[in-house]
Amino acid sequence: MQNIRLRFAPSPTGPLHIGGLRTALYNYLIAKNKKGKFILRIEDTDQSRFNKNAESHINESLKWCNIIPDESPENPGEYGPYRQSERADIYRKYVDKLIDTGHAYYAFDDKEELESQRKKSEKEGKTFIYNWENRHDFKNSIHLGSDEREKLIKQNNYVIRFKSYFKEKEEDFIIINDEIRGKIKVDLKLLDDKIIFKKDGMPTYHLANVVDDHLMKISHVIRGEEWLPSLALHFLLYDSFKWEKPLFAHLPLILKPSGKGKLSKRDGEKFGVPVYPIKWEENKNIKYIGFKEIGFEKEAFINFICMIGWNPGSTEEVFNTNELIDIFDIDRIIKSGAKYDFDKAKWFNSEHIKKIDSNILISENESDILKIFRDEIDQKRIPEIINLVRERVEFKKNILEESKAILKYDQTQFKENIKKLKFSKKECQIISHFSEKIVEKNKEDIKELFFKSLKESEIKVGDGMKRLRLCLTGNLSGADLFTIIKILNIGALKERISISLNTINDQNRNN
Ligand code: GLU
Repeated sequence: MQNIRLRFAPSPTGPLHIGGLRTALYNYLIAKNKKGKFILRIEDTDQSRFNKNAESHINESLKWCNIIPDESPENPGEYGPYRQSERADIYRKYVDKLIDTGHAYYAFDDKEELESQRKKSEKEGKTFIYNWENRHDFKNSIHLGSDEREKLIKQNNYVIRFKSYFKEKEEDFIIINDEIRGKIKVDLKLLDDKIIFKKDGMPTYHLANVVDDHLMKISHVIRGEEWLPSLALHFLLYDSFKWEKPLFAHLPLILKPSGKGKLSKRDGEKFGVPVYPIKWEENKNIKYIGFKEIGFEKEAFINFICMIGWNPGSTEEVFNTNELIDIFDIDRIIKSGAKYDFDKAKWFNSEHIKKIDSNILISENESDILKIFRDEIDQKRIPEIINLVRERVEFKKNILEESKAILKYDQTQFKENIKKLKFSKKECQIISHFSEKIVEKNKEDIKELFFKSLKESEIKVGDGMKRLRLCLTGNLSGADLFTIIKILNIGALKERISISLNTINDQNRNN
């Protein structure tokens, strides 16, 4: 079988957003699933859009996500350089080949000329395209005499265009294939003669991309839907070079949280959601935080990103990256756009927190919890606290706060709440009895005992539980009460009940 090599080929024009990251992830998952290589290539041929901080943002984002390229500018393999700006000589050689074989030609038209043509067409309600129909009307090497052609070439003031269609061609149509969308028939007569080499001596994206994919032995090209309109040109380029084509798959768009239109960088601010994996600082005033800084687990983030546009074919949703490598396949990538739902991202995070090794969460929180509840709990209860709290938080950083919220006795809250919940004499007695009876040894059975006494006094379980909770925590709702009772020590339980019952007594006396 052919070697499996997939690449992520971002242009360093700005920060890497979640759409780009998803492209990188799918390439990585397929490469690893097929025991192949994942390559990072930086496509920096467009100097006008170059952003000097973009490449490091791409690298840092991939690093945080553990999407580590086997070959990259930082870790070159045998097909380098991996930055297109360092490959200019290579492209020159290949564009010359296309000229020699008649697939490309020099064009010397100046901008103004083309602009006026464009305007003329616009006025007539047409779209201007430079192609087989009109290329003979322009200033290019196809019909200029050789002397003039040589003179203009020497002046170095030209671009090179690809001859998409010419009358002598056998076929007017080609069939291009996309692994997600299937076969697409393209009318060659409608294509324009794209510029493949610019005045500045650099190739445009199309030529550089195809040449590099060939030279780097790329087996699958997986990229965003926005490149689908370029696929026909890329097929033609491969054919002109007589090169074997890789497989192509164009990923569906990630849609705005509203579901209307493509997710853009600006949507982050508009919808108050992150759009970058890690933070991006444009300057002192423009800073964006990413999923990392918000506190996402990287595995949860990867899981979330993977599920935008792909499903495993079952109802299961929570996977770590190794599991995704095992089950990922191109066939289940969806065709239509998929909505970006930040609540779902948080849900994935909470699900991943449930799977983290308890010992990690214990060691991260133990000393802080003990500092706060030193007199009220034993150290051996920490695992129970963690198990209770991890089920309830969206982010790991909330574990301490949530532990405090669950375990503390809030007297102010208590005073507020007893205005809403009256205690009968019988209810006070039962709670007082509970407090007298409880010892460390019978904590496992105390629930039964409490329920029994409620039944004997004909108090509903719900009413009794609510009052016991109020006396122990000050709140009317919260985490499982008998787990809280197990965690708190006897001293704390008795003291809280006594303070609560005294307050109720005082109030009753005053009324
Ligand atoms: N440089 C292109 C981009 O940033 C890559 C497209 C491709 O993967 O072919 O989207």
